Amino acid sequence: MSKTLLIKNARVVVTMDEQRREIANGAVFIRDNVIEQVGSSADLPHIADEVIDASNHVVIPGLVNTHHHMYQSLTRVIPAAQNGELFNWLTNLYPIWANLTPEMIQVSTLTAMAELILSGCTTSSDHLYIYPNGCKLDDSIEAAQKIGMRFHAARGSMSVGQSKGGLPPDCVVEDEKAILKDTQRLIETYHDASRHAMQRIVVAPCSPFSVSRDLMKEAAVLARHHGVSLHTHLAENVNDIAYSREKFNMTPAEYAEDCGWVGHDVWHAHCVQLDDEGIYMFARTGTGIAHCPCSNMRLASGIAPIRKMIDAGVSVGLGVDGSASNDGAHMLGETRQAMLLQRVGFGPDAMTARQALEIATLGGAKVLNRDDIGALKPGMSADLVLFDLNQVGFAGGWHDPVAALVFCTPSDVAYSVINGQVVVRNGQLTTVDLGNVLERHNKLAITLAEAAR
Ligand SMILES: [Zn+2]
Repeated sequence: MSKTLLIKNARVVVTMDEQRREIANGAVFIRDNVIEQVGSSADLPHIADEVIDASNHVVIPGLVNTHHHMYQSLTRVIPAAQNGELFNWLTNLYPIWANLTPEMIQVSTLTAMAELILSGCTTSSDHLYIYPNGCKLDDSIEAAQKIGMRFHAARGSMSVGQSKGGLPPDCVVEDEKAILKDTQRLIETYHDASRHAMQRIVVAPCSPFSVSRDLMKEAAVLARHHGVSLHTHLAENVNDIAYSREKFNMTPAEYAEDCGWVGHDVWHAHCVQLDDEGIYMFARTGTGIAHCPCSNMRLASGIAPIRKMIDAGVSVGLGVDGSASNDGAHMLGETRQAMLLQRVGFGPDAMTARQALEIATLGGAKVLNRDDIGALKPGMSADLVLFDLNQVGFAGGWHDPVAALVFCTPSDVAYSVINGQVVVRNGQLTTVDLGNVLERHNKLAITLAEAAR
């Protein structure tokens, strides 16, 4: 027996379809986990197993978060890491993260996903690259299944510790053979290549300054053998560029290409300092980028040339990045910051509200190598969110409700539907008891910080 869900009477439905239609008094009809019809409320079926009245709401495709480190929700605003750039920030945090436990991974992932979902995100990647004390990527995947989020779990890793010229302390790095073996196990256990998949695995050594060239190359071979995507950090700030020039005698883009890390199945986080040759090469090869504006501002990494990248044809998605370098992981807020930061760097017409929404939906889908999310049209996965225009932050902004979502103070969703399941109803998560999760999370955050003292 199939189950149907109708969202009707929306002030506007933002489709992100080929014509970028915005449908006034719009409706979306869902059967099970797939969108069957999108149109005006008058033209769609009037009944369904569940009906949501979206009067005075804006309906948009679920936002796609392409870069995160969810465990970092336990280490927000750590005093010693509040005011440093990337390398200083990392060296202050590694010793704390060395005490992570499997329970901490599970609970922090639930917390981070709850925050993302309430802020309009329905699909997220998470880049977990530190595995002390028996932590496994399985812990994150379990949390995603529990809360009902579409999840691209990236098996990160670090293998070059300080004694070998890397940045992380030796106690948090892993053996390269073990990394590749565990990555293969995860792909074979969890990766779902099918359309509308709720979980996929990504091969994701942490960064050029924490793994070897061999691991980068072997990771690419492993990923391509299994048809899964590749993800890492690249060209984040000027020190990152200097490291690449000194160690490899190459720019980060040249190094990525040399390791086989370009193509439509690869996306790199940040790329704030990617040079013009790198931008053109990424465009030519279909290599994607996760733009993380808040983190880039927080760590003073610079302003990624997103306008230039999009004009050159690079696929760009948005990422909130880990909660220790963007202490407010609000996906609609990140969309707003993407728009504002491009304007700071490149002028008032460098990014419109609709362009920002497009990279947060279609852009993210493309970067994750998916064609079944990011737009509301028949045959797409049933992932959408509703924002209530009656909130005070939108007051007076009804002249253009779609732009208001991005220009006004970021709001939480009224409803979120993920894979056809109503995960947020009337602003409340339906799948987990958030109060209970937060209580556990805050206790574990204190335990973690105290363990490093
Ligand atoms: Zn990151």
